[in-house]
Amino acid sequence: PTRILTGITTSGTPHLGNYVGAIRPAIASSRAEGAESFFFLADYHALIKVQDPARVQRSTLEIAASWLACGLQPEDVWFYRQSDIPETTELTWLLTCVAGKGILNRAHAYKAAVDRNREAGEDDDAAVTAGLFMYPVLMAADILLFNAHKVPVGRDQIQHIEMARDFGQRFNHLYGEHFVLPEVVIEEQVATLPGLDGRKMSKSYDNTIPLFAPREELRKLIYSIVTDSSAPGEPKDAEASNVFQLYRAFASVEETARMREAFSAGIAWGEAKQALFERIDAEVSPLRERYESLMSRPAEIERILRDGAGRLRERHAIPTLRRLRDAVGLRDLS
Ligand code: ATP
Repeated sequence: PTRILTGITTSGTPHLGNYVGAIRPAIASSRAEGAESFFFLADYHALIKVQDPARVQRSTLEIAASWLACGLQPEDVWFYRQSDIPETTELTWLLTCVAGKGILNRAHAYKAAVDRNREAGEDDDAAVTAGLFMYPVLMAADILLFNAHKVPVGRDQIQHIEMARDFGQRFNHLYGEHFVLPEVVIEEQVATLPGLDGRKMSKSYDNTIPLFAPREELRKLIYSIVTDSSAPGEPKDAEASNVFQLYRAFASVEETARMREAFSAGIAWGEAKQALFERIDAEVSPLRERYESLMSRPAEIERILRDGAGRLRERHAIPTLRRLRDAVGLRDLS
């Protein structure tokens, strides 16, 4: 089977971008013939950005409940919390010892931090942790540990998959063919959603619309999306509008075409936002009920996660690390 891996960082409340960009397409492809899916809650990754234990825990529960509410079947896929698989961190070290530091210097997230420091007149590495710098190695471990073939990502993540290939290839070259090199799969048809302020919707930017915001909060947030000041009746450029980008991610082709015409005809912003609210709420509200019910049963979620990780360690992670330890010359733990 083709192994497909998708993770969401447990750094905050899951939002519409996570749903459209990760949860919805990943669940759809997990149902396809011949797919073996790995869905994980990236809590080791969260520590790079969030040093608030309550927030990480809350986010873990919310993201797990979101996957389940959206139809993930824990018996049919691998569903686990990253830190329940400590072999991930051990593999991270093995890969760290073959990863070129020069390659990590070029990683986007690290370079962006350096650029910000330069603009602020600080040292290049001011407030940059080794965790941020090493983030691509941890991500390579997530992928290579389970020999995932495909990691569907947005354009901004291509570089990380290429790094995972590079580290895997170096390891294979030194120690034998242990790793499958993952393919970069760009999901062209999957949209990147803008947030309330027009930048990419992201937990890090505090510009998100929570996937399961209660209905009234959803309405308020949608009405707070930043728009230009064009008056009702004035033609509007659909492609340039955040409201339209969001609408398109939830609407059929026909509905989208009708909305594009309404934009040209000068739909009022209030009316466009009301249509957007109704469209999103129609898709999300049956899922929201399941989500709320799951959130009231955290022990059950915890049980599902532990069970998933336990089976996955036994089946893949522990035997894989045993082989890798042997390959590099470390003691056999068995
Ligand atoms: P963080 O700021 O902590 O990185 P994030 O909200 O940007 O969080 P991630 O947890 O890094 O999201 O990403 C999880 C998944 O959600 C990835 O597959 C990513 O491509 C997808 N995703 C995140 N934001 C968006 C967005 N605005 N539009 C579409 N997909 C998104």
